[in-house]
Amino acid sequence: MGSVVGHSECYYIYDANGRKKVVDGKEYLITEEEYRRENPYHKDVGCTECSFVQDNETLFTYLVPREMKERATGDPEFVGKFTLPGYTGHFSFYVFKCPFCMKVSVSSISSVRRLWCTHCGDYYRLDPIRHRSIITRDREVSDEVLKYYTDKDKEERRRKQRSYLFGLFLVFGIVTTLFLI
Ligand SMILES: [Zn+2]
Ligand SMILES: [Zn+2]
Repeated sequence: MGSVVGHSECYYIYDANGRKKVVDGKEYLITEEEYRRENPYHKDVGCTECSFVQDNETLFTYLVPREMKERATGDPEFVGKFTLPGYTGHFSFYVFKCPFCMKVSVSSISSVRRLWCTHCGDYYRLDPIRHRSIITRDREVSDEVLKYYTDKDKEERRRKQRSYLFGLFLVFGIVTTLFLI
């Protein structure tokens, strides 16, 4: 991911030749140590906003209150901010009932509005309007992007409705035909 330091643009790449730092389009080879010094693991930076947890399972088992698990619904409930091994930042984690497998899961948001279910591996897509505050909690998401997903959902609902109606007509047609012959 790129960042702007002073007036120059800087980002890192990693390829077969190793780790490189790119400043204003110029590539510099750097060691893993240098890279880690500039991009420390979040658990090492002394952040007071979050807690370090070994993995998702530990978080779910020991850090999510039982009542919270019991009342979980399709509206994700905020648990807290956590960082896991290998993370260079922290994320808000939510408890929710997965609409696919109906199990209670704890996860953080990825790709704007997806919550990954730790049980079935499916992605629960949050509603851009109903879950707006959750989607925009950790990252800035523009109104344009939210509108894009709202329209996308609408179109998907319309498509589903159409195929449902088509199925209904088909069944009706078959029944009528059978009745007539
Ligand atoms: Zn933190
Ligand atoms: Zn699931």
